Amino acid sequence: MTNQEIWQITLGEIELSVSRANFITWFKNTNIISNKDGKIIVGVPNGFAKEWLENKYNKLVLKALRNSIGYIKNVNYIISSSPEHQVKTRQKARPKKEKINLDLKEQLDIREFKKDEKTNLNSRYDFGSFVVASFNELAYAASQSVIKDLGKIYNPLFIYGGVGVGKTHLIQAIGNEVIKTYNDKNVIYLPSERFCADLISSISNQTIEKFKDDYRKFDVLIIDDIQFLAGKEKTQEIFFHIFNGLYEKNKQIILSSDRAPKAIPTLEERLRSRFEGGMMADIGRPDFETRLVILKKKAQDLNINISDETLSYIAINIQKNIRELEGALNRVFAFIKLNNIIPNQKQLTKILKTLISNPQKRTNYKKIAEVVASFYDINVSDLINRSRKKEIVKPRQIVMYLMREELKNSYPSIGTRLGDRDHTTVIYACEKIGKELENDETLEQELNLIKERLYNNIV
Ligand code: ADP
Ligand code: MG
Repeated sequence: MTNQEIWQITLGEIELSVSRANFITWFKNTNIISNKDGKIIVGVPNGFAKEWLENKYNKLVLKALRNSIGYIKNVNYIISSSPEHQVKTRQKARPKKEKINLDLKEQLDIREFKKDEKTNLNSRYDFGSFVVASFNELAYAASQSVIKDLGKIYNPLFIYGGVGVGKTHLIQAIGNEVIKTYNDKNVIYLPSERFCADLISSISNQTIEKFKDDYRKFDVLIIDDIQFLAGKEKTQEIFFHIFNGLYEKNKQIILSSDRAPKAIPTLEERLRSRFEGGMMADIGRPDFETRLVILKKKAQDLNINISDETLSYIAINIQKNIRELEGALNRVFAFIKLNNIIPNQKQLTKILKTLISNPQKRTNYKKIAEVVASFYDINVSDLINRSRKKEIVKPRQIVMYLMREELKNSYPSIGTRLGDRDHTTVIYACEKIGKELENDETLEQELNLIKERLYNNIV
């Protein structure tokens, strides 16, 4: 394998664990400069990226490299000229290998970096590549209505759902479609982190009035992952102004969030009611058939010939979200490109091993206790003590339920862990939560959010 091939596969791994925005920001224009005796040197475009990779992502990079090629001793980062340049010079020397390389690079990640300077939209997110099924059809239908009738019927359009289910894809597709349909509309897409960063720098440069003014010119304002505004009072206040200015002029506002407005803590009441005043549509999780359809479509788009059995195997085993489905497919794709053979069952299992969820490995009692306690705003010690208060009993029962469902712990061991309680208490709790889940939609949503935090390491 060449260094570039190694890096492509590694990037594919990394992409699964960081948000899209971070992935692009920190891993764009990086490459492996040398690889000797288990010591890898990664070239990065600037000092900023070097610092972040060293301090924040080093562990992840090491892990991903080890997953891709096995033994690695350490990784160092140095600032180097652009990798495009290096691809070119190396291409001359080894044209054939590089061809495969560029294909890989193109298909696996260059597409991520094609961002329109003015609108910030990535042209790869369009409706042509967006599979619609029951889990997202409401959000899709609402999006279509918004495109037809900009700013009139559903304002704002508020799309919410878990990680990797297609929120960013959908809201960017709306933006791209608006540009295609109308030729005089000013569209802007911003991840909310970017909105916040711009806002903060305008405050420190004392250009906040200009900052607010600049937003007046947009016909469509799309802000992704708005939940990050939680707890940022000043930002919310300014956003509220911008929102109202556009809203009053019937300009379309489109927002996404990982949860419903009412579940965003410390969101100002007036913003919450604004968000709820338009159209809220959630995206759920695709079922097995839908996952298979998505995989088939993506395999077709990548132009790879994989058997239905292989795709079914992926669809059965990868259930978390669409991003992981793509990750799995990319691995198979990389395997085929590198080895020139279709993987057999044994190879497939090996390729996908680290992706296939094995909750036992990925969470533990401590995490469950911390996440549940923080979710319900109680102390971890409350879970163990004897309190019979309702606000405590419910989270405690949920912890028991999760230990049973996610960790497959025995009833007696759960009881011991949670303040030496009898196993019959645990059985009662698990059955109670299990039953309630069937009828109580709010509880179901709460559990989904808790699980998401659990598996994405958010406390
Ligand atoms: P989110 O913003 O909800 O975390 P993304 O929009 O980033 O999720 O989607 C994750 C990946 O899955 C993206 O690569 C996206 O193109 C793909 N994807 C999401 N939804 C669909 C869909 N309905 N059809 C095809 N691909 C999808
Ligand atoms: Mg997103």
